Amino acid sequence: MLLNWTLHSSSRHIARVLFLLALLSGWLTGVPSWAGVIQEVRVHGDRVVVKFDEPVTQASAFMLAGPQRIALDIRGAEPGRLARAGGAISAIRQGSQGQDGARIVFDLARPAIITEGSFGRDGRTLTLQLRTVDDARFARAAAERRMSFLPPFTYLQPSSRHPYSETISLPRRAPPAALPRIYGDPSRPLVVIDAGHGGHDPGAIGANGLREKDLTLRSALAIRDALLASGRVRVAMTREDDRFLVLQERYGLARKLKADLFISVHCDSAGNAGATGATVYTLSEVASDKEAARLAARENKADIIAGVDLGSQNPDISSILIDLTQRETMNASASFARLLGREAQPLIPIKENYHRMASLMVLKAPDMPSVLFETGYISNAGDAAFIASGDGQKRIAQSVRKAVEIHFATRMASR
Ligand code: ZN
Repeated sequence: MLLNWTLHSSSRHIARVLFLLALLSGWLTGVPSWAGVIQEVRVHGDRVVVKFDEPVTQASAFMLAGPQRIALDIRGAEPGRLARAGGAISAIRQGSQGQDGARIVFDLARPAIITEGSFGRDGRTLTLQLRTVDDARFARAAAERRMSFLPPFTYLQPSSRHPYSETISLPRRAPPAALPRIYGDPSRPLVVIDAGHGGHDPGAIGANGLREKDLTLRSALAIRDALLASGRVRVAMTREDDRFLVLQERYGLARKLKADLFISVHCDSAGNAGATGATVYTLSEVASDKEAARLAARENKADIIAGVDLGSQNPDISSILIDLTQRETMNASASFARLLGREAQPLIPIKENYHRMASLMVLKAPDMPSVLFETGYISNAGDAAFIASGDGQKRIAQSVRKAVEIHFATRMASR
């Protein structure tokens, strides 16, 4: 799937720019077998050229305000010495980030942002394109990161001919999103519906050409409408159109809105076309079975496709799980999962053993009950047709509406 990816270049989306050099060995494991020492950092007009003595694994950049700076993180690199500032860049500092590689910080004499980055063919040269902007534009570029709490994007472009990928400059996101719109009565608890995948990440593809990202969006919209019709909750969606969001952004947006419940909607997929039925997943450090582990690997890959390195950018899930708050959240999530399964049973094809657990990145919020609802198998002709149908959408939405109503009614009663 990754190998067929095509890059679309658009200079319109410059909010975040990334690039990545993927060693065929390195990009799978995220662990470079050696490190490239930074040989030189030099500013030539509006370009910054960074040279390494060995190919590095990946790089990513982001803007920081107060004072205005650009930070460049390079995995698989060690800091070197020679650096020559110039142009908009008043000073260059390099530091080690241990196993994460090196960081180069560019102090700015005037506001400038990176609009593009590309590696040379041998993976030893990284060229960044700078653009001078006004303070407001810089602030937007810098604010975007704070808004999303995201690690910088990077992108993988494995090449079949060369051991390294080359130029990467990536646009795949709408400009800094404002927080999602919240629908409904402000006095009601808030449910955030997350339509899985989107944009350049289609998710699983059904035999009939159906794309998971389309089905999840349609289901999510149907769920939103059903919840709003019930009048018991407010609803927001992480996406209402075909756009890409990394996993942290999905629950990050929900946390920012102080959501009371987070439901990520997906479709399952299996090699065995006979596999059928919905499941509800909650977070666990240990997968409930092999299939759950495979599912987690597949769903968590959305970020790897986008090039975000989960390994380095996220605290280990298990370390969060020790937290008692998280335990409480996990219990609330599990009870909602059981409720959803129970309410869905008479309405949609659902597995007998519908509640499963896996270390799913999108469920990682420590303080917000979260479930991942696999509405059925896109790889199964019957399930796919059901999920895609108007009736199927309605039944999926009804299941969630009933479960949500009971969930909040019970919580109110227990207070
Ligand atoms: Zn999915």
